[in-house]
Amino acid sequence: MIQPIRGTRDILPIETARWQFLEQAVRRVFHQYDYGELRTPIFEKTELFARAVGETTDIVEKEMYVFADRGGESLALRPEGTASVVRSFLNNGFERQLPFKAYYIGPMFRYERPQKGRYRQFHQAGAEMFGPEGPLADAEILAMIVRFLEEVGLAGTLTLEINSLGCPECRPAYREKLIAALEAKEPELCGNCQNRLHRNPLRVLDCKNESCKEIAHDAPHMLDHLCETCDSHFTGLKSHLDTLGLKYVVNPMMVRGLDYYTRTAFEVTTDALGAQSAVAAGGRYDGLVTEMGGKNPVPAIGFAMGLERLALLLEQQEIGAAPVDIYLAAVGDEAAQSFGLKAAEAFRAAGLRVAMGLQGGSMKAQMKKAGKSGARYSVVIGEEEAQNAQVTLKDMEQREQWTLSIEEAVARMKSA
Ligand code: ATP
Ligand code: MG
Repeated sequence: MIQPIRGTRDILPIETARWQFLEQAVRRVFHQYDYGELRTPIFEKTELFARAVGETTDIVEKEMYVFADRGGESLALRPEGTASVVRSFLNNGFERQLPFKAYYIGPMFRYERPQKGRYRQFHQAGAEMFGPEGPLADAEILAMIVRFLEEVGLAGTLTLEINSLGCPECRPAYREKLIAALEAKEPELCGNCQNRLHRNPLRVLDCKNESCKEIAHDAPHMLDHLCETCDSHFTGLKSHLDTLGLKYVVNPMMVRGLDYYTRTAFEVTTDALGAQSAVAAGGRYDGLVTEMGGKNPVPAIGFAMGLERLALLLEQQEIGAAPVDIYLAAVGDEAAQSFGLKAAEAFRAAGLRVAMGLQGGSMKAQMKKAGKSGARYSVVIGEEEAQNAQVTLKDMEQREQWTLSIEEAVARMKSA
């Protein structure tokens, strides 16, 4: 048997009910906030990600699936969605139609060490907004995330963390201060952090290593070194969130793995998935459009949610599984079977979901299957029912049953 590639997995039919529940909520809620769906290719020029995500990021340095196509061009499977959205924004001249708001849902690829909630092919739903510069936009995007989490029943178990990463005005001076503070503790940093101390010192702040964590805690934090504009942006954001009654935690140690963030950065985290604590992450990236070749700077903000992690949370909390409405068992002669099929069709035509016991079996065996299916109703059709053009409808929750015509059964189920 050929096995799937390490870090990839089949999303099985029993799981896809939950996935579709998530995806439908994404589409419904994002549309409410006036985002349209943008579908970009799964692969792009490697250079796009190197430039947008940043040469010194884990994603570009270690995680990207890069290959040469038959023409010798270096291509990469997309490791994230923002780079392609910015490319498309520029290619299609959307700078002239601001604001531009787009969302996406789809697979991403990163060569990581696979574990629960961390895969090599995984799926993100994300959204990006170009144009608005002020904290109002940041608050709207966070409100959208929270509304989505509420719709899927997960808001209560998750924490929204926010931080500011400063801007080209204030970050360079802070960066130097941070490097100086970290250099003093260099021998105590993990190997990875010693390596990135000069190239990407901010990442040291969210290293998972215990000794690095302690050092990061005492190190200078961006929040205490913001310029006036960044400071008032952050204050404005907090005040809008307070107005909306959205709960958040300021986490001065939260930095993002991607180089392009400016000012607001945020994460939605959980305690329920072990080391894989982030279910959504994003931030403002006011410099990226010019970085990617835009003539004029266009402020922007966006985020992505990990659908595997959200699906795991739904599963843990038993949310989103969608059982059939009816388990239908026809037992007896061919006339009973055939009347059963006709009844199943009539229920489906009325909009109900029906699992019919097509493999037959005794009444007892079929009732066992009905119980397992989680269906609210069972419908039993024996020879006598078939002769009278009737069905025995049983409410599996209330444990009541009736013998009815198909129309009466539909009416009873629809009115319940
Ligand atoms: P992490 O710190 O967990 O590696 P990240 O900072 O690399 O996350 P982002 O690039 O911000 O993650 O992606 C946004 C979201 O996508 C994450 O919060 C997470 O829910 C999800 N995600 C990222 N990488 C993976 C992966 N390899 N497998 C499953 N989900 C992932
Ligand atoms: Mg990562």
